[in-house]
Amino acid sequence: MTFKSTRNSFLITISVIGLLHAFFGLSLGWLVLPSTVYLALLIYGSAIIQSNFHAQAYCYADIAEKEIALSFDDGPNREYTPQVLSILAQHNAPATFFVIGKNIQGNESILKQIDVDGHSIGNHSYTHSFFVDFKNLQGFKDELNQTAESVFNVIGKRMKLFRPPYGVTTPNLAKASNGLDYSIIGWNIRSLDTTADSAQTITRRVQTQIKPGAIILFHDTSDKTIQVLKQTLDFAKENDYKIVSVEQLLKIEAYE
Ligand SMILES: [Zn+2]
Repeated sequence: MTFKSTRNSFLITISVIGLLHAFFGLSLGWLVLPSTVYLALLIYGSAIIQSNFHAQAYCYADIAEKEIALSFDDGPNREYTPQVLSILAQHNAPATFFVIGKNIQGNESILKQIDVDGHSIGNHSYTHSFFVDFKNLQGFKDELNQTAESVFNVIGKRMKLFRPPYGVTTPNLAKASNGLDYSIIGWNIRSLDTTADSAQTITRRVQTQIKPGAIILFHDTSDKTIQVLKQTLDFAKENDYKIVSVEQLLKIEAYE
């Protein structure tokens, strides 16, 4: 089920109802049901990145080996990104950081450190605005290009990984991302580490879902994530899970 097939089915359905109305006097009230279903599918498909509704997104790797990838969104963060980097270094674990362009200014040294430590950096839009999904095609291209430019200026690499803000995909976002040759990266374990849940609850939620090929979504923006990360890395070690970067797990390239 994709956006196009859903839209075409909807258009055919309302055309048939229109014809039946014109020739046989069918009540236009019959439009309510398909319209409601269409709207519900649009909302579902846009909100759930794993649905691949608007765009093909990598959300896990279909593998049997005990390998998982950690991803951190919304940095670079002056306070928490260095703490995440230090814990990852202690565990010799790589990760992928999806950074927000507007957070880079003033935090260039942190961004540089992410790269120097051997982690990969992906695009997570420039503004991460709540209204980002209402942008037109050019608006989305600007979001991606501005962040790409900021990252290139610091690490000299052109990113190929993109994680949509809020995991929401739209037709314009998909077009911009495809046009600029990004791989869209989702996740299949959402830690929900930005909610009010305790570190213990978040850790348990992550641990019960860990399986080969998983991509875990964290945010390097809070103290809680630091606790959860430590426990998750210990859990991975005890259970013989190897931590790899997102691009290693998916066998794709992080940079041009
Ligand atoms: Zn985000």
